[in-house]
Amino acid sequence: MDYGLLKAFLEKEGCIYKENEPMSAHTTFKIGGPADIFIKPVGEEVLSKVVAFCSENEIPVTVVGNGSNLLVSDLGIEGAVIHVGNGLSDIELTDFNEISCGSGIKLSLLCSFAAENGLSGLEFAWGIPGLVGGALYMNAGAYDSEMANVISECRVLSKNGEIETITKDKMKLGYRTSIFKEKKNKIITSAKFVLQPGLRDNIRQTMDTLFERRKLKQPLEFPSAGSTFKRPTGNFAGTLIEKCGLKGFTVGGAQVSEKHAGFIINKGNATASDVKRVIEAVSERVFLETSIRLEPEVEFVGR
Ligand SMILES: Cc1cc2nc3c(=O)[nH]c(=O)nc-3n(C[C@H](O)[C@H](O)[C@H](O)COP(=O)(O)OP(=O)(O)OC[C@H]3O[C@@H](n4cnc5c(N)ncnc54)[C@H](O)[C@@H]3O)c2cc1C
Repeated sequence: MDYGLLKAFLEKEGCIYKENEPMSAHTTFKIGGPADIFIKPVGEEVLSKVVAFCSENEIPVTVVGNGSNLLVSDLGIEGAVIHVGNGLSDIELTDFNEISCGSGIKLSLLCSFAAENGLSGLEFAWGIPGLVGGALYMNAGAYDSEMANVISECRVLSKNGEIETITKDKMKLGYRTSIFKEKKNKIITSAKFVLQPGLRDNIRQTMDTLFERRKLKQPLEFPSAGSTFKRPTGNFAGTLIEKCGLKGFTVGGAQVSEKHAGFIINKGNATASDVKRVIEAVSERVFLETSIRLEPEVEFVGR
């Protein structure tokens, strides 16, 4: 694909981009081949122009946040990879219990901001290494809560560059799913959260306690994309995998974590195909032994 026109357009708009950018630098798995063109738009207006340009010129677009739920192909990603990050990361208190922020802000910063302003409800998200857009797309959750309990509305961009507001009742938020994941045709640009007044010290304490639990249970010392599989109804993926004797199962540099079987970790130099082979082998064995089909939570992107 010839990206001459796109590059000229990005330069005219003063938009930062890189060619053949290794996605291993933009995923928490530290895995992934090159993105043809990796773009970091600043602001909703520029983002909208870039998306419209790509659409008019039939350039495929892949949106990424912090890459903490992605397994990117070793062959990389064709087209434009748009990183919705720092360029959309404003945050402000818009009412006594309401926070508005860009979708490119880290969840951890949103949680800290809420705590500092004495607002409770986001404690569960402390320690989830995603950005707000990726968290809404996934309806990220932990410790008996999820984004669905705190979001009130968000602004989204369509492929033709149009912007609209979507309220929570239209988001179809379910277990690790949303209308954004179902349709894959919108980019979230900002969000509004409605929280409960609380005591700053109590909120901080809950955040610390939950984070300690994460550190105890999860292999945070290795690159990963968090839980590899969704939780099957009435079960835990990690428990099933462990029962099948697969803790420590390894292909190349990818391994079922010894600490938490629900995580596949990159022990060093793992490729996406190593991880895929572990996912396939684990799913197959668990199905053979338990008749339960594990469904990946991690998203596969790229060639
Ligand atoms: C150590 C570790 C612990 C984790 N713990 C949890 C946990 O407790 N609970 C949990 O739910 N998840 C957890 N995760 C997974 C991950 O952090 C979440 O799914 C997170 O919400 C993904 O956000 P992201 O910004 O990294 O999105 P990415 O991984 O970059 O993208 C995920 C998907 O969202 C889409 N997307 C991203 N931004 C936008 C946007 N602005 N508009 C539209 N679509 C967008 C992408 O196209 C992609 O399809 C964990 C991951 C790790 C590595």
